[in-house]
Amino acid sequence: MSGDESLLRAESPQRKVIVAIDGPSGAGKSTIARHLARHFGLLNLETGAMYRAFALKALHAGLSLDDSAALADLAAETTIRLEPAERENRVLLDDEDVTGLLRNQTVTDAASRVSVFPAIRAWMVRLQQQLGEAGGVVMEGRDIGTVVFPQAQVKIFLDAAPEVRGLRRYDQIGQTGPTPATPPEEVIRDLRARDERDRNRADSPLKPAPDAVLLDSTNMTLEEAVRAAEAIVASRLRWPVPQQ
Ligand code: C5P
Repeated sequence: MSGDESLLRAESPQRKVIVAIDGPSGAGKSTIARHLARHFGLLNLETGAMYRAFALKALHAGLSLDDSAALADLAAETTIRLEPAERENRVLLDDEDVTGLLRNQTVTDAASRVSVFPAIRAWMVRLQQQLGEAGGVVMEGRDIGTVVFPQAQVKIFLDAAPEVRGLRRYDQIGQTGPTPATPPEEVIRDLRARDERDRNRADSPLKPAPDAVLLDSTNMTLEEAVRAAEAIVASRLRWPVPQQ
């Protein structure tokens, strides 16, 4: 962040603002959150990356992903920090930069599994509240508007049909490797399984906060969804939409 930007953050109304973006995987949350942060001069914090980092540690430790007691013990000796950066957050796990290790399928599945346990969630929620307490943030995840910051000034619940989300995810995978290793049907199936887990867990299931604005991007391009999200934030905060 430049000196001018940090001055702006310190003195402008942006400072206290919290924008919560929740929704299932592949709905476009990361792209939209990143864009909103840049557009409105806020920091972008991706809470999913924190669950991913903890899952990575559990995998490296060889723990069973069903052993809630062992996972809670591991959490007690783990530090996770997020640092906003230009594209995605830099993730520090026990002070080691693990940003590049979090997006593969093994970690994705493991993150979905460890995130059902109340002890893990309570720990993550505390960390996330500390990260965002000064405001000036767009925070994206599954429970930001319902649990982490129920007082957030703007809450957007972003959704899209599972097939559309699955195909977007498939395209993303295709862009990061020479050939997509996983067929689209399998990507959609995995995504549905993670959705089920997120929506049906007993502790803080994925659902819109009562005061969230629902944004369904099924029939929108990502660009259109970004513009719609911008308009929601601007109208909720009564800020003018900054010019491009
Ligand atoms: O958003 P992302 O796909 O990186 O999140 C990884 C996993 O972490 C999700 O599948 C979800 O189960 C979990 N998660 C969560 N609560 C959050 C963010 C992510 O349970 N606030």
